[in-house]
Amino acid sequence: MTGLGKKTVEDIDVKGKTCLVRCDFNVPVKDGVITDDKRIREALKTIKYLKAQGAKQILCSHMGRPKGEVNMKYSLQPVQKRLRELLDCDVIMASDVIGPDAKAKAAALKDGDIMLLENLRFHKEEEKNDPDFAKELAGMAEIYVNDAFGTAHRAHASTAGVADYLPAVCGYLIQKEIEIMGTALENPKRPFVAILGGAKVSDKIGVIENLADKVDTLIIGGGMAYTFIKAKGGRIGASLCEEDKLELAVRLMEKAREKNVKFLLPADSVIGDEFKEGCKVRTADSDKIPDGWMGMDIGERAVREYTRAIKGAGTVVWNGPMGVFEMPDFARGTKAIAKAVAESGAISIIGGGDSAAAVEQLGFADKMTHISTGGGASLEFLEGLELPGIAALNDK
Ligand code: AMP
Repeated sequence: MTGLGKKTVEDIDVKGKTCLVRCDFNVPVKDGVITDDKRIREALKTIKYLKAQGAKQILCSHMGRPKGEVNMKYSLQPVQKRLRELLDCDVIMASDVIGPDAKAKAAALKDGDIMLLENLRFHKEEEKNDPDFAKELAGMAEIYVNDAFGTAHRAHASTAGVADYLPAVCGYLIQKEIEIMGTALENPKRPFVAILGGAKVSDKIGVIENLADKVDTLIIGGGMAYTFIKAKGGRIGASLCEEDKLELAVRLMEKAREKNVKFLLPADSVIGDEFKEGCKVRTADSDKIPDGWMGMDIGERAVREYTRAIKGAGTVVWNGPMGVFEMPDFARGTKAIAKAVAESGAISIIGGGDSAAAVEQLGFADKMTHISTGGGASLEFLEGLELPGIAALNDK
């Protein structure tokens, strides 16, 4: 299920209609000030389109974890302020979510008006996907637009439940995620290369299983590589290892072999004698790491081999850093791979979370075809799982 073929805002007549628009305004706020407004800016395309079409908009989002209680530390008021600045028009704020203020203001909206509800998670019913809460939310509107990819893997009232009561379409942000990632999975330009890294194999089992059926090459880096290397009989010293996943690692490598998928592990590693900045640093073959030392980054030979594989790719999907990139001594592998992907000319898709942060931090963001706006959601998408927030949308 990739969601290709779901209705978008352009497939429905929104003029004069009240649209409940689920956005991802879960932005970092410090002392009432937004420190990174990227997510708000990413929602603008859909909001501007709906306004230009003469729709009445009720925007809604969660922010942080207020645990089902009203807590003004998590109020969306700073988002209202920023939206006003970015849209250069008024944005009305409701002081509640489904209470009398929201309902009165929703009923008074005129064509082109925009209002913002308070934090959805002020109600515990939101995360429980409570049908009565979803019905109340839906009751204020005539059309549901989901544009929050970052929460599309959650079946909450505002991401899935409301679609039981309203025609449901996606906004431009979700449409872009579906189109780029869905096409990569269903009909990729080949060779299709997946790069998987990060700390743990256990987090990526589903992704490896699913991608092993689709890709031509699987490149493994990060802490998860050492479980595979140990499973092949290598000595990995004190590197990260999930002992209970050794058999599974063998099975995954066998599956790759059966499917004719090249399965690349780092030939060498940059190793440290302690998991901290300023530790002693050396290079070693990844299967001959001395006792007490741990693999913290892929080495030069691995970088060269991985770069060669990436250079010839038609599509690259990347999720998870190649090493402990937060420490400068162990950031080179991730940086080199980011550069190789950026320069490959391939369709390049970066999963959200750490790999997206790494690409942005290293200055390669604008060279990638697509950086997913959802960490958990993009991982589940790559696992081939059905995302409730996308499944709930109407088919074309
Ligand atoms: P994940 O959330 O699974 O994508 O993992 C990202 C985290 O994995 C980052 O914080 C990295 O520092 C960490 N990481 C990457 N490579 C290693 C490694 N070789 N040893 C320990 N941690 C690692």
